[in-house]
Amino acid sequence: MSNKSWDNISSATKSVWAGEEENFVEGAAQVPIVNSVSYSYDDLDEWFDVATGKRKGHIYSRNTNPTVTVFEEKMRILEDAEAATSFATGMAAISNILFSLLSPGQRVVSVKDTYGGTSVVFLDHLPRFNINVTMCETHDQDAIEAEIFKECDLLYLETPTNPTMKILDLKRLIAAGKKMGAIIVVDNTFATPINQNPLTLGADLVVHSATKFIGGHSDALGGVVCGSADLIQKIYEFREINGATLDANSAYLLIRGLKTLDIRIEKQNKNAMALAKFLLNHDKVEQVFYPGLESDIGHEIAKRQMKGFSGMLSFSLKGGFDAVRNFLPQIRFAHRAAHLGGVETIVGPPRTTSHVELSEKQRLDLGIPESLIRCSVGIEAIQDIIADFDQALNSI
Ligand SMILES: *Cc1c(COP(=O)(O)O)cnc(C)c1O
Repeated sequence: MSNKSWDNISSATKSVWAGEEENFVEGAAQVPIVNSVSYSYDDLDEWFDVATGKRKGHIYSRNTNPTVTVFEEKMRILEDAEAATSFATGMAAISNILFSLLSPGQRVVSVKDTYGGTSVVFLDHLPRFNINVTMCETHDQDAIEAEIFKECDLLYLETPTNPTMKILDLKRLIAAGKKMGAIIVVDNTFATPINQNPLTLGADLVVHSATKFIGGHSDALGGVVCGSADLIQKIYEFREINGATLDANSAYLLIRGLKTLDIRIEKQNKNAMALAKFLLNHDKVEQVFYPGLESDIGHEIAKRQMKGFSGMLSFSLKGGFDAVRNFLPQIRFAHRAAHLGGVETIVGPPRTTSHVELSEKQRLDLGIPESLIRCSVGIEAIQDIIADFDQALNSI
């Protein structure tokens, strides 16, 4: 890839051009989808050099593929990282990080509000390998810090969290993790590189479900991890063997989606802020969770560490789950789905989506009211979104 510097180049330009400065085959101006499993060599010496990494090129698409490489390079540059590697899904990225870097007897410190699939890895899978995971109360930064100082080999953070948009103090917790020599991983899916750059705050690895805002069009699954070259190499070597590789067709869709990342996120940040303010003043709404609101408990920290407050918010209705049952079908311009980060507005109750396996009591323990609705605000015109939510709320 190009050796030109990306210093002082803005994210909007990076999302369009990064990874694409090189000429593609036959002068194609757009990234070709290379659906080839292998790459053939007439020259055995060249083949050997590529296979042993002495020369650029590809051998077998479980390992590397030209389309996938462009996606990784775009993400690497957007996250200002030394290296990046990609996966079939966000969960593949997360589990590959954990299983490639951890060993029996080690200790992970994290929080209770991590993404549902990540929690399952923490609760059901890592312990089978004698890896101890402590999941702290997400809102209690003192308690998280105290756990880190006991012993910590890997610190796994996620902010803002799902679904109540809690904010972790990245600078403080990363500093604590560093003191203990831990590898520090941040799931940046909700924020995106436009709103938050954990690597610049000292994290070692940043991971995304590219399925969400990165792709942005709800038509491709993917995952990516960016960070230091040595850690990425270890993770890549594990993925190369377990085979959780990103497919070239999905990589193309993610590249295409990434080109508009900056304008999508800018609009979604604005729309979410306006919708949050509208909901805050609506008499059918009980509570609004959005770190952009000055009244939100995470606001001050979010203001320090984020450039925008993201397109995600959640809110609870007065009247319990019955109110949700009445409200959701009335929304015209939103998918009712277990997904987020697309150009369309997407709504869903954690009770039937992200936290469906939990009991009502477990949800309440996590601070998730039964009448909570998670909302991924799309790029529609904000006056239409607000009018739509208003009519649906008034019909409860
Ligand atoms: C969706 C999601 C994941 C998992 O990503 P998949 O692509 O669905 O495997 C991980 N972390 C967060 C925060 C997510 O929203």
